[in-house]
Amino acid sequence: MEITKHLFFNLSLMIILLFFGLIYLEKSKKFSLSKPSFIILFIVTIWLCIQFSYTPISYARFDLRMIPLVVGGLYVGIGPILMAAMIIIRSFYGINIGFWQTLALYIPVGLILWRLHPWFYKQAPARRIVCTVCLGMILGILTVLGMSFDDEPLNLVDAWFAYLVIPSLGIAIISYGVEFIRKTNEMQQELIRTEKLKAVEQMGAAISHEIRNPLTAASGFVQLLQDDYLSRQKRKEYLAIVKEELFSAEKVIQDYLTFAKPSLESLEELNVKSELRQIISILQPLANQNSVEIVTDFSIIGYIKGDGQKFRQCFVNVLKNAIESMPHGGYLYVSTEYSQDEVTIKVQDTGVGMNSQQLDRLGEPFYSTKGKNGTGLGMMVVYSIVRAMDGSIWVESEVGKGTIFHFEFPTLPINGK
Ligand code: ADP
Ligand code: MG
Repeated sequence: MEITKHLFFNLSLMIILLFFGLIYLEKSKKFSLSKPSFIILFIVTIWLCIQFSYTPISYARFDLRMIPLVVGGLYVGIGPILMAAMIIIRSFYGINIGFWQTLALYIPVGLILWRLHPWFYKQAPARRIVCTVCLGMILGILTVLGMSFDDEPLNLVDAWFAYLVIPSLGIAIISYGVEFIRKTNEMQQELIRTEKLKAVEQMGAAISHEIRNPLTAASGFVQLLQDDYLSRQKRKEYLAIVKEELFSAEKVIQDYLTFAKPSLESLEELNVKSELRQIISILQPLANQNSVEIVTDFSIIGYIKGDGQKFRQCFVNVLKNAIESMPHGGYLYVSTEYSQDEVTIKVQDTGVGMNSQQLDRLGEPFYSTKGKNGTGLGMMVVYSIVRAMDGSIWVESEVGKGTIFHFEFPTLPINGK
């Protein structure tokens, strides 16, 4: 059972590497879950397989290199790259029959995987897993058939068992893991979208109220303008008022659209002060409704790096919560501080506050004390955006007194544009 034993060893090494590799990719900002990082991860896996393969005969290497090839080729669409890398790596271990067999088997496989990738992507998850497992099994069979050409007698029962069971098992485990991660990611995105929709809806209600005021005023003055005997001077005056009212209605709509517009996911340089000003003007109608006065104190400079749309979504959520925590009015202080290393943003309200259990649950999905008015997703989105921007949050709160949110983001040097 030498082959079986060695392939199991190969499989455990691979799973350990993929496990830690994925954790690293998930955590690191520089090498997120992108194509190039997957290419590196899978190439390292292929090398690991070939390095730790079982070599009973000098020219044959038994290992599970087909697993990273199949999974990477089908899920990421990098079949030809992995195939080329595999051939190059294999060539370092001697150009012999084994090498030519690798060439003969894996060149077509790499190309087939590449052609299959678009079709594969459209299948349901369960079907994708079955598909990868079948491919693994076929490759296993072909590998064992290839061995029959070797002169050296091998334990064929062992080889058949090893190559029928272990590659399919390994591929099943890994594909299942990949599907699981994808599903979790999709769910997270879906939650963020739901939360945004809800916020858009609630703000839409407040904002339409805010637009109605200037429109009513404007239409009143238009009615006055219909008077034929109005003096030229008065007419001019009224027209100026109408123009101003329409302009303020347009500004409210404009502000709202900046928030509701779909995100483009781009990293840019954010001027914290002007971003916060914009967010506050979006939320002004909501604050007016709750008789909340917003007081600001901004440092003169302060640039950070991030996605503007996400940054706005994050602070709209925080400020909205703060305003909602003061149903009978109060003060909302928003201030920023700037230092060489950090830009600090402080959001303080004089609202209902939270006790320590509530503070602990802050950011938990669906945790809300607002009944049907709350989604309990706002703070979760805040935490995930701040984390993605390399920032940190620290919250202080006292029941009946209010809450303070402290945010810290790394400063972007102005000359580092
Ligand atoms: P939602 O606003 O939909 O309830 P969030 O995730 O935005 O969901 O907030 C979760 C909960 O955290 C709120 O229901 C509220 O109890 C509490 N919370 C958040 N911000 C504040 C705040 N500034 N003051 C008091 N409680 C807050
Ligand atoms: Mg909220």
